Amino acid sequence: MRAVVKSKPAPGVEFAEVPKPKIAPDEVLIEVKAAAICGSDLGIYDYTPAYSKMRLPVVMGHEFSGRIVEAGPQVKGYAVGDRVLAESVKACGACAYCRSGQENLCDASTLFGIHVDGGMAEYIAVPYKLLHRLPEELSYEAGALIEPLSNALHFVKDCTPIRLGDLAVVQGCGPIGLFSAQLFRLAGAEVMVTGVNVDTERFKIAEGLGFETVNVEREDLAKIVTERTGGRGADIAFVATGAPPAVAQATQIVKKRGRVTVIGIFGRPVEVPMTQVVRREITLSGAYDAKPENFDQSISLARSGAVKVETLITHRLPLEKASEAFEAAKSRVGCKVVFIPQLR
Ligand SMILES: [Zn+2]
Ligand SMILES: [Zn+2]
Repeated sequence: MRAVVKSKPAPGVEFAEVPKPKIAPDEVLIEVKAAAICGSDLGIYDYTPAYSKMRLPVVMGHEFSGRIVEAGPQVKGYAVGDRVLAESVKACGACAYCRSGQENLCDASTLFGIHVDGGMAEYIAVPYKLLHRLPEELSYEAGALIEPLSNALHFVKDCTPIRLGDLAVVQGCGPIGLFSAQLFRLAGAEVMVTGVNVDTERFKIAEGLGFETVNVEREDLAKIVTERTGGRGADIAFVATGAPPAVAQATQIVKKRGRVTVIGIFGRPVEVPMTQVVRREITLSGAYDAKPENFDQSISLARSGAVKVETLITHRLPLEKASEAFEAAKSRVGCKVVFIPQLR
């Protein structure tokens, strides 16, 4: 079958012909209809140190949807023909975190597109326990974006306390930033979305969604927030970028006792003005991945239209155009870049 493969411990990905997967008794074979590129896939593309322990070669992709074409004898609740999407991480189910409902912190998790073959291919084998049904109202392309929306939902709903009328500054206007901004707004916050010069296209999407945007390379974010809040500062800063200066900026723009949630993945240690955090009693915390329940909640938010999903898609490309697709995502001329395996 046709697939996007990471085969060498060096930058790049390639289009390749690989064997069609064989399913285990508890797995289904999914004919992939859409598979999106995630920010973390760009780290794999560049082969940054965070991914040096990945399996090679591997079929990439953990954000996908499709139709079941084969089901093993132990599969329950799903059948051939069902439209589905899957969680991206297989938690071990046995560690202390898994056993206390915190599967996103599992000590021994397996990730599609890193440890096992992923969804940027014509077919993928998936354990049925990771599946979620894709409602008829949602397209396969929207289905592929439920995984990143589930992440954003966990970061915002589970990890960032919000009150009606809060000012939330979302730093970064990539897919997670734009999903999170929509969720903060749904939760009753006033939202500002920031970016840099290279984010021109993403700013357009953010503005199309009705958000006020701030280009931090051209405007003084701290001054804007100070003026907006009568000198007090934002209630929440949400760091949805891997740009190191954003963390220090977050601690400067929140009010005393304000909250900073960091979800960016950084290539190196980041400097934080800790004395500011201490004296101003700022809460600084991380948030990672999603819980299984976040998937069904995200499907519901997408189906009702409360969160706009497909608006984030800027590119739809065949698997053959792997390098072009990754370059579009990396250069940020695109927001969400999606492979459609049926395209040639
Ligand atoms: Zn992802
Ligand atoms: Zn576990």
